[in-house]
Amino acid sequence: MAEKVLLIEDEEKLARMVELELQYEGYQVEKALDGRTGLERALSGTFDLILLDIMLPALSGMEVLRRVRRESQVPVIMLTARDTVVDKVSGLDMGADDYITKPFAIEELLARIRAALRKHPAQAVAEERQLLRAKGLSMDPERHEVTVDGQHVELTRREFDLLRYLLENKEKVISRESLLDNVWGFDFVGETNAVDVYIRFLRSKIDERFGMKLIHTVRGVGYVIREA
Ligand code: CA
Repeated sequence: MAEKVLLIEDEEKLARMVELELQYEGYQVEKALDGRTGLERALSGTFDLILLDIMLPALSGMEVLRRVRRESQVPVIMLTARDTVVDKVSGLDMGADDYITKPFAIEELLARIRAALRKHPAQAVAEERQLLRAKGLSMDPERHEVTVDGQHVELTRREFDLLRYLLENKEKVISRESLLDNVWGFDFVGETNAVDVYIRFLRSKIDERFGMKLIHTVRGVGYVIREA
């Protein structure tokens, strides 16, 4: 299957040239000519790699990168017209995999694309999955699976949803009310101690079984998952 590349570049001639070269090499290419469209495409499509210009209309390349990184670890190569150390460093700091300075030779770009794809081999074959982690625990929300140190943990739907919400908010103390709102939802009619009951279930299945301290109680406030 052809690897899919998203090219976010506002210089149309350059974008067209890169598109043709990549297609010739067997990649499937989609183009976006401004930052906002590029971000939308990046977040909605499944791409194996993103080529991202820094100076873009509507939304800068740095901002696109920052928002993409909140959702995905897809490889990103920045295209920059300015060979300034600042661009280079801030792009790499913000999670770009590589950068290339314009004007560039197409062979160099192709080599960097191959290198970036090699670093992320799983993405070339499967859709990237977002795992939630804390200590030895790993949750795969799509597969509805939880493991601790590789061992499977069986959870009910509610336990899973509660754990997921705490993991998504790791290191933040969440009140019982907020957990009820977000995990049980507006249709909840029982007692607020439902939260405490389910926290006990989770502790027995995770903390106690594996001898770890993951779910902490903050007296009078709520619960928090802490790594340390
Ligand atoms: Ca540009």
